[in-house]
Amino acid sequence: MSLIDYFRNKTAIVTGGANGLGFSLAQKLSELDCCTLILDKDKSACESINVIHMKKNKRLRAREVNVVDSNDVSKSIREFYDEQGKIDILINNAGIAHIDEVLDLELKIWKNIIDVNLWGVINCTTHVYPIMVEQGFGQIINISSLSGLLTDPGSTAYATAKAAVINLSLSMRAEAKFYNVGVSTVCPGYLSTDIYVRTLSSKVDTPRFFEALHKYSKPFSVEKASILILKAIKKNKAMLVLPASAKWELFLSRIIPGFMNKQDNELMNLIRKYKRK
Ligand code: NAD
Repeated sequence: MSLIDYFRNKTAIVTGGANGLGFSLAQKLSELDCCTLILDKDKSACESINVIHMKKNKRLRAREVNVVDSNDVSKSIREFYDEQGKIDILINNAGIAHIDEVLDLELKIWKNIIDVNLWGVINCTTHVYPIMVEQGFGQIINISSLSGLLTDPGSTAYATAKAAVINLSLSMRAEAKFYNVGVSTVCPGYLSTDIYVRTLSSKVDTPRFFEALHKYSKPFSVEKASILILKAIKKNKAMLVLPASAKWELFLSRIIPGFMNKQDNELMNLIRKYKRK
C-alpha cells in the first residue's frame, strides 16, 4: 500500500508542528490527504500556517497550545474529535533542548525540560488514548531522541525525559495492542532543524558551542526523516532510529563497553570551554 493510500482520509494531531520536524510531518500528512491539526505554542508560526492553509491547503491548520497545559490540550483535542468524528494519529513531537551540566541546572529548569518533553507527551496521550480505545483504532507516535538511548552529558535533563518517553512508548505499546492502538517511538540523531538555535542554557554560549560541536558533522535532512517516519507509521514499527549513522552509533555502543567514553569526554570539554565566566 502506498503512503497516500494509507493516510488518505485519516485525521492526525501533530504537537510542536509549527516548525522543524513536526512541520515537515504535518505538511506531508496534509498533502497525503490526512486532515492534520498542529498544536504548538509558537503563536506567530501557527498564524502564518493558518494564512497559508486557507489559501492553499485546507487539510492543514494550526492552533496555539502549550502541551504542558492539560486543560488547553484537552479542549483542542475534544474540539478536533467532535468536528472530525475520529482521531487516527497522534504525533507527540513538541520538544525543547537545554545545554548545561547538572551542576548548573536549577530545579525550575529541570522541571521545564521534563514538563515539555515528558509531561507534554503524557498530557496529549491521556486525552487522545481513551478516544482511540473507544473507536477501536489509532496510532500514537512519540518523538524521542538518540539521546534517550545513549549517554548525553550536558543534556542530562533532556536525555532523562527522552529515555522516559522511550519506555513509556514501548510499555504502553504492549498494553495498547489489545485495543488495536499502535504506539511507536522515533529516536532521531542530528537533524536539520532550528532546535539548536532555540536551545537554552544558563551558562553555555550555545551558538559557539554548537558551531564547534557540529563542525565536522552534517545534519540529516528533516524532509527525508519525515518520509522515513511516515513509512514507519504505516508499518506500525515499535521503534525507529534514524539516520543510519545513529543506528550504527547505537549498535557500537551496545557491543563495545566504553564506546561512548571518548565522545562524552569531548562533549564535556566543549561544554566547559564555552561556559560563560
Ligand atoms: P524545533 O525547535 O524546530 O521544533 C519544536 C517545536 O515544538 C517548535 O515549533 C516549538 O514551538 C514547539 N514547542 C516547544 N515547546 C512546546 C510546548 N510547550 N507546547 C507546544 N509546542 C511546543 O525542534 P525539532 O528539531 O523539529 O524537534 C522536534 C522533536 O524532535 C523534538 O521532540 C526533539 O526533541 C526531537 N529531536 C530533534 C533532533 C534534532 O536534531 N533536531 C534530534 C533528536 C530528537
